[in-house]
Order: sequence, then structure tokens, then C-alpha cells
Amino acid sequence: MIIFKSINKLNKEVNFKANIGFVPTMGSLHQGHISLIKLSKKKCEKTLVSIFINPSQFNKKNDLKKYPRNLKKDIKILKKLNVDYLLKPNVNDIYKNKKNTKIKLEKNDKIMCALHRPGHFEGVLAVINQFLQKFKPKHIFFGEKDYQQLYLIKKFIKKNYKIKVFSCSTIRDKNNVALSSRNILLNRNDINKSSIIVSEILKFKNKIKKNISFTKNLNNIKTKINSLKNIKIEYLEIRNKYNLSKNYNKNNFKIFLAYYNKKIRLIDNY
Ligand code: AMP
Repeated sequence: MIIFKSINKLNKEVNFKANIGFVPTMGSLHQGHISLIKLSKKKCEKTLVSIFINPSQFNKKNDLKKYPRNLKKDIKILKKLNVDYLLKPNVNDIYKNKKNTKIKLEKNDKIMCALHRPGHFEGVLAVINQFLQKFKPKHIFFGEKDYQQLYLIKKFIKKNYKIKVFSCSTIRDKNNVALSSRNILLNRNDINKSSIIVSEILKFKNKIKKNISFTKNLNNIKTKINSLKNIKIEYLEIRNKYNLSKNYNKNNFKIFLAYYNKKIRLIDNY
């Protein structure tokens, strides 16, 4: 695996005319990231992974400070997977050119995480745009775990680039909790609570599938989840999985959740 510390060096060494798959990450790699990397390796001649903790997508300084960092272990994982290239740029490399670093969301898109984490998706789109302005992979890979992010990135890339976006379904642990780099910050007891939340929501989802009017019970399930110690829901919403509108039926709905488990903010969708 070749490790590049700057995009300039990457561009000098790598021929982007080849079929290159790109997997952007913030590191602390787990099976969720690995599923994206494996898909890229299947679809593409060469796979490029980036590890960049993007400050502009953190709307709270402390969250950025606390974000897990495990570079040595990440490099081991990537080498074992036979990844071809790792890009590990620094903040200056990405943001020294101030051009096009500000990206606005459409009014309709200011929902769920966009509403509760102002500036977050603007930061995500800005970093993806910075990458894609400087090099053009043929394919790019994202996880459904961050469903709203995937939705916004697909829309943004379709409008601006000729790059095919692939997605992978959410990888979960044995307790059905969605894998997240932030899970390292939770203890077993916290994870158990996240697991209870998943099973409550899956029960709720099954009832909705049988009878869409069951969505009226959304407040009941919110109360139930909020009654777990140290758990606080930020939002729990049902939306159309294709356009994220509130116009859904029992064949196209998805449940979206963001909550705090102690002080750790987690998201999931079902
Ligand atoms: P992150 O490092 O959290 O920015 O995530 C990098 C990529 O991995 C994003 O496309 C995420 O959606 C994806 N990802 C994170 N967790 C999971 C998971 N549990 N299952 C599938 N993909 C995931």
C-alpha cells in the first residue's frame, strides 16, 4: 500500500484514467468501512481510501477533540485488505485553497441531522468537493448507515461530477447495533441500551408494515426510548426513503433516529 500525505503527491503517482474506487473515511476503521472497501475492490482495478477527520463537519469543538483516532491500527487493517492507496492529508492540504469550500444546502434538505447539526453536511459536501475537484475516481463508496449523508452526496455528485456512487447496507454488531467509530466511547452497558433501542424500533417498524396507521404511535415509542437511563432522543422521524419527504406509505418508509447515549450522539435508520 502506498501512503500519500498530500493530494499533490497522490496525483503525481496515481493514474486516475484507470478504474479507481475511492472510499472516504474518518478512520477508526471497522467492519462498516471494510464492507465499502471490499465492494470497491470487487468493482475497481485499484482502491484508494482516505482518512481525514474533517474539522468543518464538526459543529462542536469537543466532539472533534474526542473523535477516536487509531491510525496505526487503521494502516494494519488497510494493508491486510490489500488496499492500493491511502490518502492521509492534513487540514491545510484540503482547505488551503479557499475556493468552493462553502457549499449551501437547499431549503428542503434542512431536515433531521441538517437541522440539528447546522453546518455539518455543508462541511461533508465541502470536503468531498475538495477531493473530487483535485482527483477523479471512477467510483465512490458510502454507507447507508449515514443515510441522509448518502442522499445529499448522491444528489451533489449527480449535479457536479461524472462519478458513480455505490452504497453498502449498514453493518451491525451481534447486538444489532450499527457499527460506528464512536461506539468505542461506549461501555457494555451503554451498548446494551442501544441494542434495546434497535429492537424496540424494529418491533415498531413491523407493526407499521402491517398497518401504516401505527405511525400514530410514534410518540409512545419516543417516550419508551427516552425513559431509558442516559438516553435522549434528538429526533425520531418516519420519512419516504427515496426523497426523505414526509410523504410516505408502507412500501417506501424508513425510520430515522438520532439520540444521545450518555454524551455520545448516535444515528441509525431502519
Ligand atoms: P466515517 O468514517 O464515519 O466518516 O464513515 C466513512 C464511511 O463509512 C461512510 O460512507 C459511512 O456511511 C460508512 N459507514 C460507517 N459506519 C458504517 C456501518 N456501520 N455500515 C456501513 N457503512 C458504514
